[in-house]
Amino acid sequence: MRETTDILISGGGVAGLTAACAFGSAGFRVICVDPAPPITERDAEGADLRTTAFLQPSIPVLQDAGLWSRLEPHAAPLQVMRIIDAGGELPEARLIKDFNAADISDAPFGWNLPNWLLRREMVARLSELPTVSFRPGTGFARMLTRDTEALVTLTDGTRIVAKLVIGADGRTSPVREALGIAASTTRYGQKALAFAVTHLIPHDNVSTEVHRSGGPFTLVPLPDRDGHPASAVVWMESGPEVARLSALSVPEFEAEMTARSSGILGPLTLVSRRTIWPIISQIADRLSGPRTVLMAEAAHVLPPIGAQGLNMSLADLAVLLELAQSHPEDPGVPAVTEAFHRARHLEVKARVTGIDLLNRASMAKAPVLRDLRAKALDALYSASPVRHTLMRAGLGASGKSATPTRG
Ligand SMILES: Cc1cc2nc3c(=O)[nH]c(=O)nc-3n(C[C@H](O)[C@H](O)[C@H](O)COP(=O)(O)OP(=O)(O)OC[C@H]3O[C@@H](n4cnc5c(N)ncnc54)[C@H](O)[C@@H]3O)c2cc1C
Repeated sequence: MRETTDILISGGGVAGLTAACAFGSAGFRVICVDPAPPITERDAEGADLRTTAFLQPSIPVLQDAGLWSRLEPHAAPLQVMRIIDAGGELPEARLIKDFNAADISDAPFGWNLPNWLLRREMVARLSELPTVSFRPGTGFARMLTRDTEALVTLTDGTRIVAKLVIGADGRTSPVREALGIAASTTRYGQKALAFAVTHLIPHDNVSTEVHRSGGPFTLVPLPDRDGHPASAVVWMESGPEVARLSALSVPEFEAEMTARSSGILGPLTLVSRRTIWPIISQIADRLSGPRTVLMAEAAHVLPPIGAQGLNMSLADLAVLLELAQSHPEDPGVPAVTEAFHRARHLEVKARVTGIDLLNRASMAKAPVLRDLRAKALDALYSASPVRHTLMRAGLGASGKSATPTRG
């Protein structure tokens, strides 16, 4: 038996779930599949302990998807972005640069939320939408495309006739593979540790990135936890160093991370598991095929610097939704899929290149390179036109000439 739908979304990660909420809210019939059911509790095994800092342009996308009213009560605002260079002999702050959103906007740069909570609220929103059928436990298996439709077979044998297939199925995207689209990948030999901490000194809605070597150490505000100020941490280092750090006892780890943070929030207390994420840059050669588009990590992967990853995915979604709404009878025509590729590919490439450069600068080990980085940061952030361009980019508002900043 065959089912029909307007849109089949392969992938129920944060990007696929947001896309299902957005297209379902816009009145399209949507089926969203994912072999891995979403984990929606903080302390459950396998919960995604990363957080997402949604920058300003992502908020209307979440509003239109009926999500923002659910998410806002749990979000911590990011008012100030602080960059610290601690690349001297000792891990002490030797250069501190602040960007205050108030200099260019009435609103904060963005709002930070835990990924497990995003999944919980997104699944709840989907259950309100009669237009969407979410099928955790079932995956995309293969696909045949014709001029008029795509015929998708799911892992449970169900066959779906869809006008448009959206590949939001992650960095090893099965949809990308089915289309035969290659991707260019850069490996840095780096991994990220993501976890939560509490601290004595309040964060005052300041997001801080500390550079020394191996990659940035980033503290992003969270709402208080059990009455204590709390932050999400992403700590990037070489693979072997991450293995060493994750094997330390909790007191040893706490001592090392407090030193690596230059002590800016006082002693840090670990309040979650330590989760490990491999760091790569990747971009698909094309973002569309017949009756198909690729979005989010299926299309682009970035090191977690500047909160660009999922925000870029929501920019993909905004463009795709607008194109689809201009062809509501058939959202899979080339006027949608090919226009999506043209609208997004160059922009995505520019951001991937920019973040790649920032990451390489942050990895610098040799003292002379670290001194150079400090000088470059100082010059860059002291010149006011450059500073304002970087701040607007931090808001995700850079248009095509992306000069990403950190978040
Ligand atoms: C440490 C870290 C911190 C980050 N912080 C930020 C941040 O602050 N701001 C930001 O914007 N971004 C951030 N990012 C990036 C962001 O987390 C990712 O962009 C986002 O989580 C990726 O979502 P996704 O839905 O594209 O991919 P995934 O979460 O990988 O989802 C893909 C889904 O596809 C499913 N799938 C696999 N095979 C199939 C199949 N056959 N059929 C159907 N489904 C399938 C998988 O089960 C999975 O659920 C960070 C990344 C890292 C590593």
